[in-house]
Amino acid sequence: LLAIVSIALFLILFIAFDVEREVLTKENIVEPMRDIRRALLEADVSLPVVRRFIQAVSDQAVGTGVIRGVRPDQQLVKIVRDELVKLMGGEVSELLFSNTKPTVILLAGLQGVGKTTVSAKLALYLKKLGKSCMLIAGDVYRPAAIDQLVILGEQVGVPVYAAGTDIKPAEIARQGLAEARKKNVDLVIMDTAGRLQARLIDKAMMDELKEVKKVLNPTEVLLVVDAMTGQEAAALVTTFNVEIGITGAILTKLDGDSRGGAALSVKEVSGKPIKLVGRGERMEDLEPFYPDRMAGRILG
Ligand code: GDP
Repeated sequence: LLAIVSIALFLILFIAFDVEREVLTKENIVEPMRDIRRALLEADVSLPVVRRFIQAVSDQAVGTGVIRGVRPDQQLVKIVRDELVKLMGGEVSELLFSNTKPTVILLAGLQGVGKTTVSAKLALYLKKLGKSCMLIAGDVYRPAAIDQLVILGEQVGVPVYAAGTDIKPAEIARQGLAEARKKNVDLVIMDTAGRLQARLIDKAMMDELKEVKKVLNPTEVLLVVDAMTGQEAAALVTTFNVEIGITGAILTKLDGDSRGGAALSVKEVSGKPIKLVGRGERMEDLEPFYPDRMAGRILG
């Protein structure tokens, strides 16, 4: 009898408590949503991306019961964090490898974002995974880039195919790929030319990249994005994705002050994941992209 009474009492208490349980409403999320919106904008996420995200999260949050012992705003932050992580791919996105040697990785991006540095970093990263690599120097518009890649290649112990600057990038790609096949390497990474700003991405550059892509038939086309790009990242990623089709991105200079809002824009506008991040100027400073860590950084 005592047991039955105890169970009944427990049920009554449970139901009573549950009925009184708080639910997230349009009204009680207005204030915290405003703070979250501010945090996203401060992290330099582009405005249209912020708007879409806030709308989606609000729709999802309204009507959700608040977990016992948790304040409604805390619960909302958890929903936002989970959504951010999901939006950025959830888990680490691994690099893809082709079934036939060599796997080709094409790097694209604006000038100064860290493409040349990332080319060599990536070669070292893959070398540490036991893969043999070769680099192709394809930035013909910045002569120093070729010398820079040759030096970095030596530093990380990876051969670099360079053919100077008086040659079309697609021809360099063709020759480099032939060389890679001769060397029987597992992977080829090609550095390409960039322009100064997103606005100046011109047709000639995109056509050249398309030609290079056709020659290489790459498994990965990775857009290198400077974490400081901020708001412009959305337009930049859209342009490259529409024009050449990317498979993912590498976010560089995350060791800087930037909260990294660009990371959110990349996935939101292209549907493609960030695969790696650069965290410094040393060759070892390249690591996988962890969406959960990034969500924390963006929310501040
Ligand atoms: P590219 O024009 O895209 O090939 O850019 P570079 O590879 O020449 O890099 C431009 C500058 O950014 C160089 O001074 C690099 O050392 C620096 N850089 C590249 N990646 C990073 C990074 O992750 N963190 C920091 N702090 N600097 C970086």
